[in-house]
Amino acid sequence: MNEILPSAKTLQSWLEGPRFGGLPSLTAMPAPLLSFEFFPPKNDALEAQLWACIQRLAPLSPRFVSVTYGAGGTTQARTHATVTRILRETALTPAAHLTCVGATREEVDEVARGYWDAGVKHIVALRGDPPAGVSDYVPHPGGYAYAADLVAGLRRVADFEISVAAYPEVHPGAQSADHDLDNLKRKIDAGATRAITQYFFDAGTFLRFIDRAHAAGITVPIVPGIMPVSNFKQMKGFSERIGAQVPDWMGRLFEGLEEDLETRRMVAAVVAAEQVRLLQANGVDEFHFYTLNRPDLTYAIAHILGARPA
Ligand code: FAD
Repeated sequence: MNEILPSAKTLQSWLEGPRFGGLPSLTAMPAPLLSFEFFPPKNDALEAQLWACIQRLAPLSPRFVSVTYGAGGTTQARTHATVTRILRETALTPAAHLTCVGATREEVDEVARGYWDAGVKHIVALRGDPPAGVSDYVPHPGGYAYAADLVAGLRRVADFEISVAAYPEVHPGAQSADHDLDNLKRKIDAGATRAITQYFFDAGTFLRFIDRAHAAGITVPIVPGIMPVSNFKQMKGFSERIGAQVPDWMGRLFEGLEEDLETRRMVAAVVAAEQVRLLQANGVDEFHFYTLNRPDLTYAIAHILGARPA
């Protein structure tokens, strides 16, 4: 975070006054730091889509690109194959997501050691969600129970760069917002060097969260996770499950566009551009994009933020 403007307080004054009265000019902002998230493809067609996406976004010189790990630990081999291919065939720095689910500590350590030996030095360390059809999370007997335990374990394996998850709107399983923030602090104290947030749509929610995190003594970068949305209906259902609020105004913007993909994508770009510009104007200079293996919206929004091909 740079120090251009104070955070939530400034935003509040905008929200109370004309919405964009205070936004600095587009050319005045330094280009942001970017990272992109992909998921591992499960067939040849999706593999081709992912690689087209990587090739389109690579010239924007992201700090790192990360590859998710399927719920229930279902994509271990595919995650590994994707991450190591990125390492072999591109100049990008890959980060591998790794979860606690469905494996003993020794098995998780082994996967991590394999990454380190292959040259993958950055892990996104997560508890993970249970596999489809299982509602409650139960730690694997002999496994790492929570992400903080995994971070501590990874620190014993090698000197990884470690990112962890953060929740501006509170993780749905947390006892309270304070418990959730304590948990984030535990993950940082265990050795994580960055937090990446769950996606959110209200910039003020993120900025207030940052203020609370700073007050709790969290000093590592907290990078907003940006979800460019073009399939509003699908995203709304998913957001309910993960506890992300979808503002009413978003519903109104996408109203009547169910069959009109082209307009939906333009609206999506405007929505995300407004969100990131508000964050940028409040000193946020690093963004993590959930690309869903589709480059166009991410590319457009990164461009608006000032990113240009190297
Ligand atoms: P934790 O930090 O362990 O917290 C989980 C919950 O348990 C929280 O409610 C916390 O408050 C609570 N808690 C923590 N410690 C304790 C304790 N000792 N006692 C009781 N309660 C405790 N999922 C995947 O399966 N694969 C992925 O690749 C993936 N990537 C993600 C990337 C990002 C940036 C984000 C934000 C999420 C990602 N997820 C992924 C989803 C994530 O796995 C889920 O949100 C999961 O439910 C929580 O993971 P966590 O690492 O935040 O867990």
